[in-house]
Amino acid sequence: MIVAIDGPSGAGKSTLAKRVARDLGFTYLDTGSIYRALALKILRRSVDLTDAAALSDIVSQTEIDLTERNGHLQVFLDGEDVSALIRTPEVSQMASKASALKIVRQRLLDLQRALGRRGDVVAEGRDIGTVVFPEAEVKIYLDASIEERARRRYEELRAAGREVSLAETVGEMQERDKRDSQRDIAPLCKADDAVAIDSSGLTADGVAQEVLQLIKRESSKIKNDRSLGT
Ligand code: C5P
Repeated sequence: MIVAIDGPSGAGKSTLAKRVARDLGFTYLDTGSIYRALALKILRRSVDLTDAAALSDIVSQTEIDLTERNGHLQVFLDGEDVSALIRTPEVSQMASKASALKIVRQRLLDLQRALGRRGDVVAEGRDIGTVVFPEAEVKIYLDASIEERARRRYEELRAAGREVSLAETVGEMQERDKRDSQRDIAPLCKADDAVAIDSSGLTADGVAQEVLQLIKRESSKIKNDRSLGT
């Protein structure tokens, strides 16, 4: 089974996806971390995003892998554990800029699908239900007010020791949302068959329970259909 969770940054996708994956024993697939790992390499090499040849080289010569260890996701870039290095505002912005480019999306689409074949998966991102896994059995579109999303991200960054202001965080988030939802290829949008949930004012636990119920109902339906041979 594939559970697809899409939505803008700070909506609570990661918390929800990790929780659901843990409860069901599914693999957690954080597709944003793949874009982030590539963005880190682009920043380290100072690659100009308008330089098609350099971009093509970097995209074809990069190995990214995700593994789970003791319940924690580890992100490997060319064999190096970059899990902590990819959670900065600079990497967020570069991931958003690079992810609008066709060559980047094509290469990372194949990688996401390969990782998705590892079994039952809870995948989160921007285009999971629309492009990466349009056949996903359960699709969630998770959103929240900009104030709530920015506050959550601000608290996360402060807890990680980053000196950022709330105003800066709101600005960064609005810029990224706009770019992610207005790009030509695979923009952030709700799949027609996705269930929309607004997490503003809800607890993480409340959202997780709602989604677990949805998954349970869908699994029973699938089992029923199978036993009826439909
Ligand atoms: O989800 P996260 O904030 O880690 O993603 C970082 C960036 O990667 C997003 O702002 C978006 O531009 C890009 N992304 C994407 N498609 C996905 C996941 C992430 O374009 N499926």
